[in-house]
Amino acid sequence: MAAAAAAATTSHKYLADTPQPSSESGMRFDELYRLKGVLGTGAFSTVREGFHRSSNDFSYAVKCINRKKLSEEDEAALLDEVSILKEMKHVHIIRLYDFFEEPSTYYLVMERMRGGELFDRIVAKAYYNEKEARDTCKIVLEAVRYCHDNHIAHRDLKPENLLLLSETDDSAVKIADFGFAKRVYEHNSLTTQCGTPGYVAPEILEGTPYDERADMWSVGVILYILLGGYPPFIESTQRDLFRKIRKGEYEFHEEYWGTVSQEAKDLISSLLTVDAGTRLTAEDALDNQWIMGDDAQLAKRDLGANLEKFRNFNAKRKFRAAVSTIIAINKFNSLKDDFFTSLKETSVQVADLKADIKEKEMLASMHHVHKD
Ligand code: ATP
Repeated sequence: MAAAAAAATTSHKYLADTPQPSSESGMRFDELYRLKGVLGTGAFSTVREGFHRSSNDFSYAVKCINRKKLSEEDEAALLDEVSILKEMKHVHIIRLYDFFEEPSTYYLVMERMRGGELFDRIVAKAYYNEKEARDTCKIVLEAVRYCHDNHIAHRDLKPENLLLLSETDDSAVKIADFGFAKRVYEHNSLTTQCGTPGYVAPEILEGTPYDERADMWSVGVILYILLGGYPPFIESTQRDLFRKIRKGEYEFHEEYWGTVSQEAKDLISSLLTVDAGTRLTAEDALDNQWIMGDDAQLAKRDLGANLEKFRNFNAKRKFRAAVSTIIAINKFNSLKDDFFTSLKETSVQVADLKADIKEKEMLASMHHVHKD
C-alpha cells in the first residue's frame, strides 16, 4: 500500500484499479477502448497505444494477439500468463488491467511502459555507483518477494524483462513478461525446463524438480551484471555454458571487481549457490547488509570503470534480442528475407557487432531452453 502511494507521487500517474466498465460488463474491446499508434511488435502480437473511452487521461499499452497465429499450446500458455498477471498488483510489476477474449483477437490492456529497458538507461549514464546498483537490486528483490509470497515463480528473470515506466524516473522499474510464470504450492513441485540460458538455475538444467528459488539464481546473475558490467557465465557453446552453470563456476575478475565492496560480492555468492536449499530467499536478501547499506557510503563506491564493459555487453544483448525477434517473426510469416537485411530495419548497430558474434553462438544463447 505504501509502495503504491509512493508511486502515485512520481511524475507519472499510477492507476490502482481497472478502468470501468471493464470486460466483465460483457462489452466488446472496441466498445470500451480506442486504439492509436503502434508501440512495438512481437512474434505473436502488435502492441498499440490505447485509451479507455471513458477518459483520455490515461494511455495503455494494448497487446493485440492474432489468435490464428497461436497453437493450442500457445493459447493455453497465454491464458495461464493472463490469469497469473491479473492477480499481480505490485508497484514494481507491470499491471495487466484487463483482458478480452474475442473470436479473432486477444486484447491485453497493460500498463504502458514509456522508459524502455532498465539496462539501456544504465548504460546511458555518465556516472554509476553501487548505490544505484543496490537501489535497482532492491526493487527487483521486492517484486520477486511479492511473487514468491503469492506462490508465483517467474522463471524468466533477465534484463529484457526489467522495464521502466517513465523516461525520467529511474526508480519506476517493473518486472514484465510472465510468459513462463507458474504457481508453486509445494517445495520442488516444478519440472518444466524453461528460462533463458545465461540466467537459468542449475537445478533446472539438471532436470531435477525445483521451485521459486530458481528465480533467486537469476537475480544473482542480474546483480552480477549490474555491478561487473558482464555476465558471470559466458561460454562459446551452450554445452559449456550449461556445464559451468551446473557447477556454479564463475569468478570475480580482479580487473572489474577489485574495487567492488565485499558485501556485494558476498550477496552474489549467496544467490549463485548451486544448492537451492541454501540459496538466499528474496526475504533474506532484502535484509542483507549490502542491500541495507548506507546511501552515502554506497554512492562513494564508483562503478564508472565498469560502464564501458556494461555498454559492450548491452549492445550484444540488444543485437541478440533483435535477431531473435526477426527470426520469430520470419518463422511465423514464412518469409525468405535475407537475415541481415531484416536486421537493418531494427535500431541496432549491426556493423560493429556482426564481426564478433558467431551466428551459432547467438542462436545458442538467445533461445529459451524449452517451453512448456
Ligand atoms: P513475444 O511476442 O515473443 O512475447 P516480445 O516480448 O518482444 O515478444 P511483446 O511483449 O509483444 O513482444 O512486445 C513487443 C514490443 O511492444 C516490445 O518490444 C515493446 O517495444 C512494445 N511493448 C510491449 N509491451 C509494452 C508496454 N507495456 N508498454 C510499452 N511498450 C510495450
